[in-house]
Amino acid sequence: MRTKLRKVVPEFELKYKAELAHKINKLKRERNAVILGHNYMEPALFHSIPDFTGDSLELCRKAAQTDKDIIVFCGVRFMAETAKILNPEKTVLIPSAKAGCSLAESITAEDVRNLRRQYPGVPIVTYINTYADVKAECDVCCTSGNAARVVESLGSDRIIFLPDEYLAGNVAKETGKRIIFPTKTPRAARDSALEYELIGWRGRCEVHEKFTVEDIENIRSQFPDTVVLAHPECSPEVVAASDFSGSTSAMIKYVTEVGAPRYLLLTECSMGDNIAAALPNREMLRMCSIRCPHMNEITLEDTLAALEQTRYVVELPEDIRVRALRSVERMLEIA
Ligand code: SF4
Repeated sequence: MRTKLRKVVPEFELKYKAELAHKINKLKRERNAVILGHNYMEPALFHSIPDFTGDSLELCRKAAQTDKDIIVFCGVRFMAETAKILNPEKTVLIPSAKAGCSLAESITAEDVRNLRRQYPGVPIVTYINTYADVKAECDVCCTSGNAARVVESLGSDRIIFLPDEYLAGNVAKETGKRIIFPTKTPRAARDSALEYELIGWRGRCEVHEKFTVEDIENIRSQFPDTVVLAHPECSPEVVAASDFSGSTSAMIKYVTEVGAPRYLLLTECSMGDNIAAALPNREMLRMCSIRCPHMNEITLEDTLAALEQTRYVVELPEDIRVRALRSVERMLEIA
């Protein structure tokens, strides 16, 4: 851990965190558990205890393949729910009960049912950043890595894309579809003369919505040779002003494979630290004022407690799980 993390984690924290990681790894083996770590986990956790790291889609796949009895999901609630959707017979644990997500909380199952009534017959795509009951009401899931492919695979000229306003805007650009954002007012209140193809929702990631074109301009004026990478949950203007946009794993791949003098990642700030630790020969600029408060809830201490006390167990009503599974499986087939 010291070799990898000495530049990103203070020395006095390292010993303490290494001891915690050692206990977790020992207990993980004893309990026949697998630990999945999202790319936004803090560096000391990310580089010590997960058996697999990655973005939502990669971890989803790992969750579907595991033969372990317990899945500990070091990520947020909707991710742990997805692991449970795919593995009903396993015990799925999330280390903190408070690890939510502003996108997942922006929409309810009732909202989706209303949209279904408003736009009968229009297929509904949901970003994976939603809770199981919302997935259960939709036709297919997607991640930021496969959203355009999922939308295009539907072959429909009208698609409802939920709940991320900015991701919907970026997918609309990529697929050449137009976009409308329905309000909760009745359909009659809208201009019926307009035609729309991609129908979005006003959810936003509270982290990615904060990045601005001005941030990019400021960095470029100081370091003109910086390559800017933006997550597609950033606004379409920010994505357009960047050099590359992709899922967290696509960004990691880009930094690994494309040599540049320096990189700026417009995403959750732990990921820059995680890449800096893994690729010490890459210079990462930090605008690290934006830590996701939900990802930040997942700590080594809580992960140890999760394994010791078998907490917090993710449970889903079976009828919701089965319907949500259809949406997730359709995505996995397409992706
Ligand atoms: S970074 Fe944004 S999308 Fe991801 S968990 Fe946090 S609030 Fe949700």
